[in-house]
Amino acid sequence: MEKILIVGANGQLGTELCSSLAALYGASNIVAADIRPGKHAPGILSVTLDVLDTVAFAQLVSSHNITHVYQLAAMLSATGEKFPLKAWNLNMQGLINTLELARDSSIQRVFWPSSIAAFGPNSPRHDTPQLSVMDPTTMYGISKQAGERICEYYHAKYGVDVRSIRYPGVISYVSPPGGGTTDYAIEIFQAAKRGEIYKCFLSKDTMLPMIYMPDALRATLELMQANTSSVSVRSSYNVAGLSFSPLELSEEIQKTVPGFKVIFQPDFRQAIAQGWPQSLDDQEARQQWGWKPQYNLAALVQDMLQNIPLHWFDCSPQVA
Ligand code: NAD
Repeated sequence: MEKILIVGANGQLGTELCSSLAALYGASNIVAADIRPGKHAPGILSVTLDVLDTVAFAQLVSSHNITHVYQLAAMLSATGEKFPLKAWNLNMQGLINTLELARDSSIQRVFWPSSIAAFGPNSPRHDTPQLSVMDPTTMYGISKQAGERICEYYHAKYGVDVRSIRYPGVISYVSPPGGGTTDYAIEIFQAAKRGEIYKCFLSKDTMLPMIYMPDALRATLELMQANTSSVSVRSSYNVAGLSFSPLELSEEIQKTVPGFKVIFQPDFRQAIAQGWPQSLDDQEARQQWGWKPQYNLAALVQDMLQNIPLHWFDCSPQVA
């Protein structure tokens, strides 16, 4: 029976991943750990943990006989550019602490997300392949690139069963985004619902790979449930959802919210976005463990408009 620890459980992805895992494995088998408080569905145990505290981390794993760890704690791209050394320290050491624990504890399997930020300006921008030039320019991207190499190393050298996805920008309505360059694609829905003009921090034609949360969660669970023989990539899998620009997104929203206005005022995040792929080639994930996205832009926009709260303090945790 799986006993699952999610670290960084109170963020955008962790909050929903906890609910999905509770629905699959039972809430009593889920431990949600984070450095800050959060709310989870009834039955999920919430604990405070700093992933950099190796002693507390080891005690938590041992006292709950943890078999699977999802290590999500990280500083994201935009915030990471403000605090680059903190981003490096948290993103790298959090991963290394997890992999070190997995070498000789009850942990059987680890999930750690990489990002499209691991690519860079010299990576092919269209249908970016699984294996290509990777020259990230942000500290976040550098930490994800290095993290991928570390995952491969721990798998090859110590047999750690670590699995990873290079998430595109994740779009969702349950929890606020955590300071990434794709956050505009969530904020824009709240502005549309409030009847406000949205000031977009990326230029109108900045095409980026994105994924809707239900697809991101399904990809994560499918990869973690896949037979070991189906998982040959131990760095991180390209997983494509859909790609769109801020203009295309605003035009799709305008079909339901006529008169919705967007002003494009690019800031420092524009330079970050310009170093990232526009679309991904994810054939390895499709062929090896059967990945297939379900949401297109129209379906995503309808679901987001229906469900996103006007303000984040309106939101309460989803019960699985
Ligand atoms: P988030 O910022 O919303 O959540 C991260 C969580 O980690 C927060 O709840 C934070 O309190 C916690 N945390 C920070 N420092 C910690 C520490 N020292 N110990 C324990 N917890 C700590 O981020 P997210 O969007 O949920 O992203 C989760 C993971 O997915 C990250 O690794 C991120 O790089 C990756 N990712 C996310 C996206 C996206 O669009 N959201 C895209 C690509 C990759």
